[in-house]
Amino acid sequence: MSEQMTNAPRKKMTVSDEVAIEISGMNKWYGQFHVLRDIDLTVYRGERIVICGPSGSGKSTLIRCINALEEHQKGSIVVDGTRLTSDLKNIDTIRSEVGMCFQHFNLFPHLTILENCTLAPIWVRKVPKKEAIETAMHYLEKVKIPDQANKYPGQLSGGQQQRVAIARSLCMKPRIMLFDEPTSALDPEMIKEVLDTMIELAEEGMTMLCVTHEMGFAQAVANRVIFMADGQIVEQNEPNAFFNNPQSDRTKQFLSQIL
Ligand code: ADP
Ligand code: MG
Repeated sequence: MSEQMTNAPRKKMTVSDEVAIEISGMNKWYGQFHVLRDIDLTVYRGERIVICGPSGSGKSTLIRCINALEEHQKGSIVVDGTRLTSDLKNIDTIRSEVGMCFQHFNLFPHLTILENCTLAPIWVRKVPKKEAIETAMHYLEKVKIPDQANKYPGQLSGGQQQRVAIARSLCMKPRIMLFDEPTSALDPEMIKEVLDTMIELAEEGMTMLCVTHEMGFAQAVANRVIFMADGQIVEQNEPNAFFNNPQSDRTKQFLSQIL
């Protein structure tokens, strides 16, 4: 891969044999609607997993079940050794390990960028204010917008706001990051800057699950691509095999539409 190529990681990324997330026999219903069916998924530390599939296939629901934004009804989800139950203490433990970044950045519009990044560490984690500010500035530098710290979200571009959202998650020091279509609300020229931030995270060994349609990112960064349809994991493979030799007809049909 040439050095000029965008969205290409520069470092070799390794996967450990330590389990980060273990999902077994997981099912979820919205009322009568069976949205996730028999999901089995083991995520190892350091993995960069891209989840793709048609709209409505359950990708967001799966991601949201992992940090208990949605409840599952059957099977189990274990994150860093903690089994997700309705016990609020367990949910807190898991949320402290798992950061999340959505399509819409959900920044607080009336707080500055810096305040957006320090709010949860100060109020949820009880981190002293000075330390929270130092941490926030560290991550704002990492996502390359320390100079925007005292502005309000509305004064930033979409790409900058999404990078703030990522920095804000990182301020909670998560061991796993979940991304749900983080670039799909962005103008094309802003997509790269957000993907570049995600690549840097990957290079540092962050365990990542990303729902995205950015197949270039999947090719370059993912170690595994998962294809979902109708609430099931239909197929998964390392990116080369996934894109060049898809097995199921559903996957072939999906790829023919997006590639
Ligand atoms: P994807 O992210 O793959 O587009 P989602 O997980 O958002 O899919 O949705 C999967 C299915 O569940 C869709 O049919 C959607 O309409 C339905 N769904 C999503 N959220 C809810 C909800 N809160 N209540 C009822 N149905 C929902
Ligand atoms: Mg979705």
